[in-house]
Amino acid sequence: TKAHINKLEDYLWEIPKSFKPQMRVPARVLASEPLLDAIMEDRSLAQLVNVASLPGIVGASLVMPDVHEGYGFPIGGVAATSYPEGAISPGGIGYDINCGVRLMVSDQKIHTIRDNLEELAKELYAQIPSGMGKGGQIRLSSKDMDTVLSKGAQWAVANGYGAEEDLAFMESKGRLPNADPSMVSDMAKKRGSNQLGTIGSGNHFVEVDYVEEIYDDDIAEAFGLYEGQVVVLIHTGSRGLGHQVATDYIRKMMSAMANYNIEVPDRELCCVPFNSSEGQDYFKAMCAAANFAWCNREVISWEVRTAWQNIFGPDIPLKLMYDVAHNIAKIETHKVNGQEAEVIVHRKGATRAFGPGFEELPLIYKDHGQPVIIPGSMGTCSYVLAGTAKSRELTFGSCCHGAGRRLSRTAAKKQVNAPVLKERLKDEGIFIEAGSFKGIAEEAPIAYKDVNMVVDTVRESGIAKRVAKLRPVAVVKG
Ligand code: 5GP
Ligand code: MN
Ligand code: MN
Repeated sequence: TKAHINKLEDYLWEIPKSFKPQMRVPARVLASEPLLDAIMEDRSLAQLVNVASLPGIVGASLVMPDVHEGYGFPIGGVAATSYPEGAISPGGIGYDINCGVRLMVSDQKIHTIRDNLEELAKELYAQIPSGMGKGGQIRLSSKDMDTVLSKGAQWAVANGYGAEEDLAFMESKGRLPNADPSMVSDMAKKRGSNQLGTIGSGNHFVEVDYVEEIYDDDIAEAFGLYEGQVVVLIHTGSRGLGHQVATDYIRKMMSAMANYNIEVPDRELCCVPFNSSEGQDYFKAMCAAANFAWCNREVISWEVRTAWQNIFGPDIPLKLMYDVAHNIAKIETHKVNGQEAEVIVHRKGATRAFGPGFEELPLIYKDHGQPVIIPGSMGTCSYVLAGTAKSRELTFGSCCHGAGRRLSRTAAKKQVNAPVLKERLKDEGIFIEAGSFKGIAEEAPIAYKDVNMVVDTVRESGIAKRVAKLRPVAVVKG
């Protein structure tokens, strides 16, 4: 209950280590008070407390204001463990390894394309395979699959499905070097072999938006954003391949855990030391699945560009603004107990939000911090933020990843009349193309928290700055 939660700052709450004997660090919640009340309605905080008992965890277990309950770990959570002997846990990364979001920007203004929106939505739906388990046109040979797994988005560029200039504008440049394709099972490779260029189901989408408001002129200019501009958001991950990698290694770790005398309060938190053989195998497989996801988003960008040309003609460019991962673990350097130390940062439903000066960033972004892309819902709005130095102090350089689910899929289906919703959104100028009405109901705006409240929390806590607000006009749903 709230009696166990201390207020540290206006937007920061703490459940102290003394709350439960197995906690190794305190548990912290980044939220406004109304959001905290909402968060207390599901098992998120119980899960957050469990995460605080992970072997080797440092600082605090953390959740962002968009948190909701997930497999073992809450979605919207961050956990850093000491490198190299601290725990790595697949549940802290999620089944959709490197699920993430990218933003592409056009040089068109919304008023010039209003009349094309319905047609554009249909063309995007035609070009981009969507739906659970749905395959695309590319069939990867086992040699090509290995290249995708080790080279990430570079495979797409080398094979005519991507653009060289995109690579610099992806987190980690679209490739984690520690990937080892031989750590990915044949089953996982088989599931992924026809899924490059597909978005999958439900929560995943390709969405046309326009920039409704600019909050910071300097940063917006550096990011190439201006009012009225048409942009495209893409949200998906590593598809069946990543899911199978997670499944395979969760199974292995469930039994391997005992060999390392690890006990966790919930079996779904299963983990092994990062530097154990199982830990290393998983990490290499996770990196490979992450590379598959970056390649997937790059191929989808190519499909979006194809649709764009079919509607608007050949010379209308779409540039990649940035691509972020929100289900991933990375080795990073952060301040731990006052000293710089390498840690294994698990981000599950959390976006990296490094501030100005981070050397991986493209030169034109470097003075402003990294772009942080926050989707809201298909009927409300989404945001572009910029990371700050403060995120390193408070959240291991992390920020929220969305509005966060408020209703379960089942509850949403009960409450929402999908055909009515689709018509209502159309009246508002938002054209939805989805495989099923069931999908639309599960993804209705009321199924999500108020993204404005979530973004206000991260802004006021200082971990990110607001740059731009995006309004949807055409959405392709899985
Ligand atoms: P997740 O990765 O947890 O599935 O989703 C990330 C976030 O995407 C959700 O928390 C939600 O706020 C947002 N979202 C889900 N569907 C849509 C959509 O159709 N359009 C936009 N703009 N955001 C969405
Ligand atoms: Mn996601
Ligand atoms: Mn996903």
